[in-house]
Formats: sequence, C-alpha cells, structure tokens
Amino acid sequence: MDGLEWSVLEPLIDAGRAPNFQKLIERGVGGSIQTAVPTFSPVLWSTIATGFGPREHGILNFAEMGPGGQLGKPYTSNTRQVPAIWNMASEQDRRVLSTAWWVSWPAEKIQNGRIVASYAAQAQGRILWKSGVWADGLPDLAHPPSLMEEILPALQDGAPEGPLRSEFNGIFGSIPQEGAWDFPWQRDRLFRMAYHGDRTHHRIMLEQLAQEIGDLNMVYYGLPDVAGHYFWRYREPSAFSYFTPPEQTKRLGNRIDIVYELMDRWLGDLIDVVPPETNIMVLSDHGMHAFNLANPRQIQSGGHEAGPDGVFVLAGPAVQVTGLLPKESRRVTNIFQVAPALLHLLELPVPEDLPALVPEHIFSPEWIQNHAVQKGPSLRSEFRPATPPRVPGEGYDQEFIDSMRAIGYVGGDEEE
Ligand SMILES: [Zn+2]
Repeated sequence: MDGLEWSVLEPLIDAGRAPNFQKLIERGVGGSIQTAVPTFSPVLWSTIATGFGPREHGILNFAEMGPGGQLGKPYTSNTRQVPAIWNMASEQDRRVLSTAWWVSWPAEKIQNGRIVASYAAQAQGRILWKSGVWADGLPDLAHPPSLMEEILPALQDGAPEGPLRSEFNGIFGSIPQEGAWDFPWQRDRLFRMAYHGDRTHHRIMLEQLAQEIGDLNMVYYGLPDVAGHYFWRYREPSAFSYFTPPEQTKRLGNRIDIVYELMDRWLGDLIDVVPPETNIMVLSDHGMHAFNLANPRQIQSGGHEAGPDGVFVLAGPAVQVTGLLPKESRRVTNIFQVAPALLHLLELPVPEDLPALVPEHIFSPEWIQNHAVQKGPSLRSEFRPATPPRVPGEGYDQEFIDSMRAIGYVGGDEEE
C-alpha cells in the first residue's frame, strides 16, 4: 500500500475505523519500515521485490534519463538487472500470483504463476498516476496469456466512464461542477483514475485468489499515496501558510481517511479468502507528511521526499506477537529486508549476495527453530540479461512523459 502512513492509520485504528488492521496487528507485529531516498515508487517497489538497491536492480527513476537529463522511456520489467521475488520463487517451484506490481510489464513468463503486470503502474501510461487501466488491456499484460481473457471484464469495468464512476462518487462524494470552485480539477480526475486502477486490481486479485491461492500472493495499491499527495492541505489546513477555503476542506478533508478505511476493507477481503494459517504482510514503501507548505499552486501538498518510515505489519504462524510497537521504538525493518523475509517465509534459501539479512527478530523463536534461515548461492548470474525499455504501443511513452509533467515531476512547478 503505497505511502501508507502511521500518523493517519493509528488514529483510525484507535477510533475503531480500521478493524482489520487492528485485528491483524493484535495477532502479529505492527511496526515501521525504513525506506531509502530518493523515494520514487518504481525504485522502492523494485527494491522491495528484489532485495537490491537501485545500483544493482537498475531502476533509478520513473524512466530512463535521456542524454540531456530529460526523461526517456519508462522502465519496464526487462530492464531490471536482477531477479524479483516472483522470479526467485517460481524458479524454485513456488506458485506465485502478482497483481499490478511496479515495473512488472511486460508480464514475465515465469513457470509457476500468474502475473497481471503494470506498465509504469499503468497509470503513467494513461491518465495517470499509480494505477489506472486500459479497457482493452495491453500486449503482454498478463501471464500466462490465457489470463488476459479472465481479467478483461474487470479492465473494461474499470474504464474511466465505466461503472466504477458512480461507485467512486458513492464513496468519496462528488464535488461541485467544474468552474464553481477555484480548484485544479486534475486533482479530482487523477485521484479518480487511481481509484479505478486500484479497485480493478483488487477485483482481479480476489477473482484470482478464488481460483487458486499461490504460495506467494502479492498485490499493489497506490491510492494512499495519491490521496496523500493531493489532499493533505484539506485534511490539515493549519500546517500550511496559505488559506484553504473551508468549503473545500469540508468536501475534501476526509478523502485520505476514507482511502485508509477502504484499504482496511480490502485488507479484510484478502484475509477472508486465505487460510487462517497464512502469513500476511502489509507494508508501505514510505510514510507521508504535509509538504509544499507555502505554495498553494503546487499540485502536491503531501510528500515523502525526506524518506519517512512506512507501515509494516506482519501476522501469522511465523511471527513473534508484539502488537503495535510504541512510537519511540517502532522501526522493525527496512525495505531491503522484505525480499529476504519473503524468501524465508517460502522456506527458500536467501541468496548470499543480497545486501540485507532475514529480519529474524520479527519471527518467533519456535518458528526460527523449526525453520532455519538458509543461505544460498547468488541467483543473478542465471538471470536473463537486461534489455532496453519496451513501449506497449506507439505514443505510450510520450503519454507517460506528458502525464509526469501534469503531476509536477517534469518541467515547471505550476500545476495548470
Ligand atoms: Zn508518492
């Protein structure tokens, strides 16, 4: 869950508004996870999936840099220089299901598993941010190829003008017609797209889990991050030195919290469909806070440039139960330890060249006694060589660059 932040989540848990998180933490550990800078999603989620830093995995930004420093083509799965957890697990006969992970398009042809890929998190290719879907799909969006047919109905329902539109309004409330407010409408439009994307991927994940639960099942949601970036000023207007109209804080001030409640419900959906003895990990790549405190023209009012810790929850038979750790000593792991931890949970050896070790302290002594941490040889040399970024279709990379400009990552700071 991209950008999930304790200072938002914890009060909701205390108020009984995140019951699934609460129950999960009570039977496991609720801690924080140290991130790394720069906090670009594709970089961090590739570190989480591989256990390596950007120098090794090769995903340095959203896109390759051109000779003049301009953004080139978005990174794609074939540009990754090291195996991801879905490669490592499937090569060693574990069944994998991965939905919408960053930099996973084109879907890699793994032996044991299903991948629903993400082209620059779909989003950046469409109207973008984080998620978003193409109603007709993309070539190589899913592996095995027959999976494409299965996910097509969900993709079509996820289209911008599809049925999710009224669902969105029911959850978040609609805002006045364009022109009635002095308000950059793209903030609402892009947030809607992210909802369509996440909701679609959640549906796909549940449908696929209903067919078969793998040994490793992973799904990415981008909405907490997107909501944080766009709506922080309305949730906490006192943190900003400029005036935010009360009419807007009234209508938009609860969007971040609603997203967190939604994440809690979706977490509940996932917990409901897996066996009770499943180990469940929830994590964010970084936390968030008020940002761009003095400039109301900036599209982003929540950010994570300084690299605040993210949320880390792990529960299940492997875990030493501590509940929610106190704020002062909450950090239990870092993003480099996620891949080793997952390999360990899959009872697979951890390659000796991974920079981080298994975070044994979060597992119970009994578990460790019965499941010794195994070391194994490097898996990098057997991995296919990296090749230049692919583009799903003509113009998709330009659409990506334009959208990066629209959300303020490229070029000027002004949002319109
Ligand atoms: Zn972000």
